[in-house]
Amino acid sequence: MTAPYQQIVTDLRQAFPQPVSDRVHDAYFVFSFLRALDQVDSMKSVQPLLGKPIPLDYDGARASRIDENPKSLEQVTARLVEYLSGMLIWGHPRTQVNVVPSPTIPSIIGGLLPSIYNPNLVSEESCQRVGLAEIEVSAATAELVGYDPQTSAGVFTFGGTGTTLYGAKVGLEKACPGAMQHGIHEPVHLVCSERAHYAGRTVAGWLGLGFDSVVEVAADRDNEMRTCLLETQCRELLQQGHKIAAIIATMGTTDAFGVDDLEEICAVRDRLVTEFSLDYIPHIHADAVIGWAWSVFNDYDFSGNPLGFRGRTLRALARTRRRIQHLKLADSIGIDFHKTGFTPYVSSLFLARDKTELTRLARRPEAMPYLFKSGVYHPGQYTLETSRAGSGPMAALANLSLFGKNGLRSLLGHLVAMAEALREQLEAHSATHVLNSGNFGPVTLFRVYPDGVDTFSFPEREQTDPACRDKVREYNAYNRRIFEAVQAEALQGRGVAISLTDCYRETDYGEPVAALKSYIMSPFSEEQFVQYVLDSIWKARAEISATTAN
Ligand SMILES: *Cc1c(COP(=O)(O)O)cnc(C)c1O
Repeated sequence: MTAPYQQIVTDLRQAFPQPVSDRVHDAYFVFSFLRALDQVDSMKSVQPLLGKPIPLDYDGARASRIDENPKSLEQVTARLVEYLSGMLIWGHPRTQVNVVPSPTIPSIIGGLLPSIYNPNLVSEESCQRVGLAEIEVSAATAELVGYDPQTSAGVFTFGGTGTTLYGAKVGLEKACPGAMQHGIHEPVHLVCSERAHYAGRTVAGWLGLGFDSVVEVAADRDNEMRTCLLETQCRELLQQGHKIAAIIATMGTTDAFGVDDLEEICAVRDRLVTEFSLDYIPHIHADAVIGWAWSVFNDYDFSGNPLGFRGRTLRALARTRRRIQHLKLADSIGIDFHKTGFTPYVSSLFLARDKTELTRLARRPEAMPYLFKSGVYHPGQYTLETSRAGSGPMAALANLSLFGKNGLRSLLGHLVAMAEALREQLEAHSATHVLNSGNFGPVTLFRVYPDGVDTFSFPEREQTDPACRDKVREYNAYNRRIFEAVQAEALQGRGVAISLTDCYRETDYGEPVAALKSYIMSPFSEEQFVQYVLDSIWKARAEISATTAN
């Protein structure tokens, strides 16, 4: 007589991968996954999304409860698949929404394998060779950005925000030695540009420095930190006897792909260290979660142009390299493979130029009595996290080996070529104005104006002249209407899904300026899809002027 629980255990065993080779069961495992993929596939259509956009039932979700009895694997997977309904397909050429890539197949498998065998990067005992993957990716990426792979080191963490947290925390320990043990008892700041990601604020809040400790430096029209103001503002902090834990340089801003002048930021820092005879060196962290990938162009032969990029693209890539080549000057760098490296979430690498700085984060061995009994690689001694998945480094490793430098150069070059094609058209037309014309990445921010606006002079006027306040608001609303019309077309499978940012920047008199945003990330994008964006815009403009004329 088997007890009821024994029967349940026997049935549930079918839902686990078999510990000993069992070809029949392996086939069942793979087939279960194939069926799920098949079910997802049937949700595809000409539209750039899976299934249908249905209103999300949050109340229903809160009413969810756990069942009394187990379900079959098939029932569960079928249910899981339904949750993808309504998702935009990021890799669809009709999607130009944000810096979200479509993951490659090897990177998906790189993420999947560890989720079957479950390595934990906390220490060598629990991750074995997957720990080597983390070291290999760190070394290869270090070399790519210009660090010495022998003296630098990297750890994967929980996102771009995590990389900024590591940078700020290392900086804090350098500025206020022993803060990890004793806490913070003096005024200390993070300094970044006003275009920096809000991750810097998040980190200041969570580290206990407080949002108010973040000093924002104004950015110029090209979305770069104004380094003369950086110098003035840092000098003021130091004159008051305050400390600087870290200066965060943004190497590729989220909205506009602005790239800070890291070389000058370092020069400012070095001058201030001398001027104030500081007993610590303010840490410089490069938030390159977006821009890092352009490092593949550091050693590209721009004059020979062996990959054959056309002139406008080549110029855009060279403009970015001009800034990105200085990444090696930063004390640490944040890198998201899940942004411009085409992996699944989460694959974020924190790189320290000097690996000994990571020991500033170490806990005392007595605090971790059950870990690190054997082997040599124990990142868990200094990482914030204890359990760390192997999926991040394995996915990154997959893509670095899939692409090589020329693969990544070609993909990025293609995305930039598409963005340049869009910009060329937007610049040629009198009803549109490109806002980030000084930034040369895959993202384009632009404003559309109704008939009769002189777009040669008006964009400059609306930026500077307070008398334009009402017009700015009117055109913000106008751009929102264009966005809604373009969005509706996209969901019909005709146009292209783009996005809208409510505040691309403020005017000189403090009014938010909204902008339409095209972020081209799909390797499947082609010029015809750029044309669809324009067609949708002209159609929307015509509809709006027809309704206002009535
Ligand atoms: C996206 C982004 C972040 C945050 O990264 P996550 O991986 O989303 O946590 C930080 N900085 C910049 C510049 C970003 O674009």
